[in-house]
Amino acid sequence: MVDKLFKEADLGDEELKRLIKTAELDQELFCRADEVRRRNYGTDVYIRGLIELTNYCKNDCYYCGIRRSNRQADRYRLTKEQILSCCEQGYRLGFRTFVLQGGEDGYYTDERMCDIVSEIRCRYPDCAITLSLGERSRESYQRLYDAGADRYLLRHETADEEHYRRLHPESMSLIERKRCLWNLKEIGYQVGAGFMVGSPGQTTENLIEDLRFLQELRPAMIGIGPFIPHKDTPFRKETGGTLELTLRMVAILRLMFPCALIPATTALGTIHPQGRELGLKAGANVVMPNLSPENVRKLYELYDNKICTGEEAAECRSCLENRVRTAGYQIVTARGDVAGFAGKS
Ligand code: SAH
Repeated sequence: MVDKLFKEADLGDEELKRLIKTAELDQELFCRADEVRRRNYGTDVYIRGLIELTNYCKNDCYYCGIRRSNRQADRYRLTKEQILSCCEQGYRLGFRTFVLQGGEDGYYTDERMCDIVSEIRCRYPDCAITLSLGERSRESYQRLYDAGADRYLLRHETADEEHYRRLHPESMSLIERKRCLWNLKEIGYQVGAGFMVGSPGQTTENLIEDLRFLQELRPAMIGIGPFIPHKDTPFRKETGGTLELTLRMVAILRLMFPCALIPATTALGTIHPQGRELGLKAGANVVMPNLSPENVRKLYELYDNKICTGEEAAECRSCLENRVRTAGYQIVTARGDVAGFAGKS
């Protein structure tokens, strides 16, 4: 049945709707997704060391635990030295991609960020540098790229205008978010987009719009995870996204984007003890363990009960190694660029 639905390269909305809504097709869907993943990436799983730079944020997204209005959040920022020491430890543990992620924090100006990026570039010429710092000007993205950044993660969150309004305050706009993604792409970054599954007000039609937007953008990376309510946000009483729907969307993404880098996210691991392993089996091929200093991990709290906040980086790494192996895949040390990537000129 899944084969029949995927017979044509481009699925129609009705076929997609059927896949998104039919639990009976799941096993077949995951099986096909795993085949496609093995054909393109074998059993390799790429690891990215996540360094959570700062939990200060000027934005006020209704879903996010580090939103500006959350007075309960205990704010921190990492110094250049702290960041470099995370990289040092990460490199020793076999990481060849560092992801610097954070809230939109004005402290990290282009000058400060370029200084950090160029220092990492100089010390680790064989590593990829991924940034995830939210919306910035095109000039800023260009400067960071020139300083040595290779990739940029910026989830679009939802591709539907009305749904975007339900999740964000007036000061933010979907048009701007999309513009940032196109700018990043034009500059030459390997771009990551993505969305939350089961965010308040999300419909099946919204999910289809997300897929259509991704088809237009053709990102190298696609990150999705279940929405998980955070106790100090306006969405504290909303229902979270489910494991089932998230896995289904991972598998659909794998079939629609055979070569994409798709992480089995921490949010997926948070809603189910085997969430990340199940994500891999449904077509994901990336995991992003935490490399942040132990004392700040609990503070980068985007949602409730986030996993792996008590462990040190080395523990995370070996725990994940076992989990990935048990699921039937293996962690590799390679940079893990998107298939067909010709290198940064
Ligand atoms: N400021 C950066 C990084 C955001 S944090 C940016 O704007 O891109 C990374 C991702 O966490 C977000 O893109 C969002 O999709 C996800 N996230 C935030 N709050 C969440 C929640 N309550 N549940 C699940 N995922 C959440």
